Amino acid sequence: MNRGGVERLMLLAMLLGTASAANESLSLGNIVADLPERYDETQLWRIHNISDAMRQYMPVGQLMEQKFGGNIWKENSKFLDISIGKEHLKAARNFLDAHHLEPQILADNVQSLIDEELLDGVQATSSLPGTRTKKASRSGSGMHWKDYHDLDTIYAFMREVRAKYPNIVRLYTIGQTAEGRDLKVLRISENPREYKKVWIDGGIHAREWISPATVTFILFQLMHNWENQPAHIRGLTWYIMPMMNPDGYEYSRTVNRLWRKNRSGPRRADCYGVDLNRNFDIGWNGFGSSKDPCSDVFRGTSAASELETQAVADFLAKRKYNLEAYLTYHSYGQLVVYPWAYKAVKVRDAAVLQRVASTAVERIAQKTGSTYRASVTHEVLGIAGGGSDDWSRDALGVKYVYTVELRDRGTYGFVLPPKFIKDTALEGWTVAETVAQSIG
Ligand SMILES: [Zn+2]
Repeated sequence: MNRGGVERLMLLAMLLGTASAANESLSLGNIVADLPERYDETQLWRIHNISDAMRQYMPVGQLMEQKFGGNIWKENSKFLDISIGKEHLKAARNFLDAHHLEPQILADNVQSLIDEELLDGVQATSSLPGTRTKKASRSGSGMHWKDYHDLDTIYAFMREVRAKYPNIVRLYTIGQTAEGRDLKVLRISENPREYKKVWIDGGIHAREWISPATVTFILFQLMHNWENQPAHIRGLTWYIMPMMNPDGYEYSRTVNRLWRKNRSGPRRADCYGVDLNRNFDIGWNGFGSSKDPCSDVFRGTSAASELETQAVADFLAKRKYNLEAYLTYHSYGQLVVYPWAYKAVKVRDAAVLQRVASTAVERIAQKTGSTYRASVTHEVLGIAGGGSDDWSRDALGVKYVYTVELRDRGTYGFVLPPKFIKDTALEGWTVAETVAQSIG
């Protein structure tokens, strides 16, 4: 939906006022009809017990992507989550039948998940001074964690943080995207020359909206009470990049909610985008990615072919001295995982990484009651090359490398309603805090 669409929706929500939720969603159904990409009666399936025979031929996900226009949500060693459009449901089901596989239906209408997410955000913010897209000028950036935000709001928030703490905060523009958007990183440090460094990023995958929401929350947690932070927080240099893939993110907000890649291209057959987390220079040509530009896991035409990958890699390579932690936030699955992803081997100090991850997982359970799992990446997510996490370990020698898969475990998947943002972001912050403490 375009901005005008969202604003009309806001107006409608305000006009409806106290109307029942059922009435509202009925009316919203008419208004959102101009959303270019719709998922009416698209089903989200979980397919267990994918046989080895099929895996050898081709990963089931990629096969179903090609045959039935399926959209892979999650593929790992245990199961595949994939959404299938209404018109392909029957054929896809027959195909699985023939291979003695039966899908578990996680959601029978993806569009209703998308509508619910939108409505939840509209309702949560209808009493706030600004609207869902307009910034509340009186209160600065208008940042909050009741809803997801557009790129402008996220960048305004970063500028606001810098303006508030000019002595310890520096704002970098580390590059531009194919569509000309800035790539921005904040540095927070009382002693950039000497303190050990932590890098945190979000938004590598466009549709994982909870990721940038969590990383901006981490920034807020750090800064709103900076003076009273413990020594293990204040004594570090923090690099924070809430949005590594701004083009993809804006595209997922306005055109296709399930978009994953960046927006470079098109290459062939009008296919856009590279999966940035398959584009880093580590095991690039290996498992878990595709050479097909139309695939959701297209690795690019060469390692680090993408502007976003280059910007981050160059920036970090120049700062690898003292770089102790690389944290990257994704969704979904509720996991805290560490290298390697590109090969079925653990890093040498895996025991230390496992212990710190387990501590974070225990603390999350205490704080919010959510169950996360700590593990080595390849065991729970399957083997995949070209990831930023493996790259930071291999190329920069970073010790504490973690990929955090935030909520949930498949009920809403990427389309996590805004009412879950705060607790999920707190879980993300708990991992950052625990790692910071371990660096000490
Ligand atoms: Zn991801």
